[in-house]
Amino acid sequence: MAKNVQIAEVKSLLRPSKVYVPLASTNSKYYDLFVEVGDLVLVGEKIAERYGKQRTPIFSSVSGKVAGIESMEYYSGILVDHMVIENDRKENAVEGKPLVGIETAKNIQRKIEEMGVRGLDQSGLYTRFDFTRTIKHVIVNAVFQNQAFLSVENDLFFDEIDEVIEGMQLLKKAALSQITILIDHDLHTKRFTEAGFDVVKVKAKVNTAWHYNAIKKVTKKEVPYNLMDAQILFTPIHSCKAIYDAVKLGKPVTHARMVMMCADLDASTAFDVKLGTHIKDIMTDLGKEYNEASSIFTGSVLNGFTMKTNNFSVNEHISSIGVVMDEVNESVCIKCGLCNDICPVEILPQNIMDAEMRTIETRLYEYSIDKCIECGLCSYTCPSEINVLEWVRRAKRRVSRG
Ligand code: SF4
Ligand code: SF4
Repeated sequence: MAKNVQIAEVKSLLRPSKVYVPLASTNSKYYDLFVEVGDLVLVGEKIAERYGKQRTPIFSSVSGKVAGIESMEYYSGILVDHMVIENDRKENAVEGKPLVGIETAKNIQRKIEEMGVRGLDQSGLYTRFDFTRTIKHVIVNAVFQNQAFLSVENDLFFDEIDEVIEGMQLLKKAALSQITILIDHDLHTKRFTEAGFDVVKVKAKVNTAWHYNAIKKVTKKEVPYNLMDAQILFTPIHSCKAIYDAVKLGKPVTHARMVMMCADLDASTAFDVKLGTHIKDIMTDLGKEYNEASSIFTGSVLNGFTMKTNNFSVNEHISSIGVVMDEVNESVCIKCGLCNDICPVEILPQNIMDAEMRTIETRLYEYSIDKCIECGLCSYTCPSEINVLEWVRRAKRRVSRG
């Protein structure tokens, strides 16, 4: 994957001919539909509601006509229904309904839920907004998730800084907790501290498990994979802009800024895209064609999800997509032990992979698999280019199924 590429320019892809909006998710495949094939919809119109622990509203990102439902890959690799909407490119939108009345914790929480903002979490340790749980620490990550591999100009991911700061104030009220912001530069430090937030500077470029160590530093305790179990809410900074839009403008998230990282391109590229834009449209815009040897991952270079196909669209949880045009030369494990040595929670990923490969379930219970924070360092360090994390994830699923 490209390293030290500076991204300072944003391309716009806000007029795709169709969008593909996921109706289900990793945790829930059931939903209610509020529109039918042939109906006309507006930007920000509620088109469906997903079941789950909480019901999550789903909104159209374009105005146009509902064309049908297609089964496509979701970003974590499963197949889910997507609503296909033909974009009329008129951008006719539903009028926003901001929060009226006092900004109490409950009122802000309700508005955030009403607008379907669940936290624009990505791969790794990020948490969803769950205000039914006690929250003792809110940590906002203002460092681009792949900054260790790709240099992104500081303002690229939070250029609407006034709205972001207001969104953080709202999050602070909603979570009833102080906020700590992780940064890797000094650009907005003064603004953040003047607004009353704690700021911790991290070195994302030298420490590849930096977020794990930074959270430990802030909370002064061990960090489990499910941060909510330790009463920690960890969210990327663009979630705060989404909170601002939800509460102050009464609008759901309909577009996103994401980075396409292509190993054989001169430079990787940032895009403003409509949610639901198909990956093929983005590749076409880059003048690239996916072939059988290509592989795609979403999220972090270290611990993102490897997609099984190129039939997926951008959703609010994806801020990076990596495309490797040549086949990955994964070879056999040489038992060098590097992955075991590097694991920050010391759970022997090579041994877990070995037990999972042979489906020796009893052995899996000997390892503390649930301690895995999915940092991806085991895969990153492997000289045989084995996706060790993927094996550990499979083992985790097997153990959690019991
Ligand atoms: S097993 Fe791999 S992904 Fe999990 S914590 Fe250890 S190094 Fe990180
Ligand atoms: S780093 Fe790779 S080759 Fe070495 S023990 Fe781990 S899986 Fe095997």
